[in-house]
Amino acid sequence: MNGATDMNNSQLILHNALIVTMDTELHVFLNGGIVIENDRIIAVGQSSDIIRQYSSNSQEIIDLHGQFLLPGFINTHVHTSQQLARGIADDVDLLTWLHHRIWPYESNMTEEDSYISTLLCGIELIHSGVTCFAEAGGQHVSGMAKAVELLGLRACLTESIMDSGEGLPSSWGVRTADECIQSQKELHKKHNNTADGRIRIWFGIRQIMNSTDRLLLATRDASKQLKTGIHMHVAEIPSENEVVMQTREVDHGTVTYLEKIKFLTSNLLAAHSVWVNEKEIGFLSSCGVKVSHCPAAAMRMLGFAPIREMLDANVCVSLGTDGAPSNNRMSIVDEMYLASLINKGREVYTNGTTNPKLLPAESVLKMTTINAAKAVLWENDIGSLEVGKKADMIVINPSSWSMVPVHDCISSLVYCLRSENVVSVMCNGSWIMKNKKIMNVDEAEIISRAKHASKELLKRAGIQIPNRMNLI
Ligand SMILES: [Zn+2]
Repeated sequence: MNGATDMNNSQLILHNALIVTMDTELHVFLNGGIVIENDRIIAVGQSSDIIRQYSSNSQEIIDLHGQFLLPGFINTHVHTSQQLARGIADDVDLLTWLHHRIWPYESNMTEEDSYISTLLCGIELIHSGVTCFAEAGGQHVSGMAKAVELLGLRACLTESIMDSGEGLPSSWGVRTADECIQSQKELHKKHNNTADGRIRIWFGIRQIMNSTDRLLLATRDASKQLKTGIHMHVAEIPSENEVVMQTREVDHGTVTYLEKIKFLTSNLLAAHSVWVNEKEIGFLSSCGVKVSHCPAAAMRMLGFAPIREMLDANVCVSLGTDGAPSNNRMSIVDEMYLASLINKGREVYTNGTTNPKLLPAESVLKMTTINAAKAVLWENDIGSLEVGKKADMIVINPSSWSMVPVHDCISSLVYCLRSENVVSVMCNGSWIMKNKKIMNVDEAEIISRAKHASKELLKRAGIQIPNRMNLI
């Protein structure tokens, strides 16, 4: 515990909490306290020490009555502009999913749609304890940024970027690589480091089949120049690797090709990365590429990602929800549970024997906190509760039917926790949800606007969802 105090600043103490710090030694204070000055943490320690040292200088002291305090969760792959598309592509094949549902939906979005979609998505993210997310690449970054600023969240926002590919909606037109880079540089200039530093702008690559080499290499160079990240869908399905092998003359798939052209770097966040072989996992590891594992979307559309092998090779793996049309639930809490189960289940599938010790709860918690902070290139400020870091944290009430009794607090956070147990969320030193109430927007009003906007958008896009069962 340390940290200087300044009487001119606003100081808040949270105490009498079980604090899971996720610091390098994985300290857990069974009865801990934390001091927040403006937007940063200035002390973490035993409750009694914190109260003794800081209470005379603090404007507010909150007794958490034994509730849990954790770093805010970080969702490293989410499509905020797809939230209004929840349920438009359930149980359909991949071609229908992309060409007849998602592309018509995205190509008919207005900036206002993107704004409402991001508000709706953000509300769900906050309810599941998310304080920071990485946008996977969507429509109308300005609409997203407006919503993120209002909600009080932290985000790395990315435009959906493609400069080639077949079957794209005619209204999109295909932009050249140079136009793609220019557009993102302008977004960076306009929005990067805005909203009190909560918004960062990244470069996007939708996927390799929609990218020329010129775009890939210009993206790599521009991201280095602006010292920001690249978010890209990588090795999602077997046919992606097959196309790459046929058209780009390599012996495996996307990762092999990206390594060949020297695109793999430590500022690349590779989403999914399901169809990678041992050699390619080696490339991801040696180049410091970060992987976003999205268990629900993988099970629905893609396949088993070799997460155990990636962790064994020291690849930084984090968790993402993907978008509402591929998962439907934007709850990172659900993804933690799924990640723990699916990767245990995969062992049975691949090795013919069970291994319940694989991917223990503490590893899963790292994936949504400190590893995720590294994935979004923000680990100096977020991902753990430590002196000097930003005050991004969540309060969890473990005294409900879903968690009681708690005999092992760490495993309970992965195997029992539900979004409903997340009661309060702080980002950048401000409460963005308190006692389950979203603080900066009217939740009911956003839900009503989202219902209307999604209906209108589907009508404009000509998307019709066929009836199931006997609707009367
Ligand atoms: Zn995605």
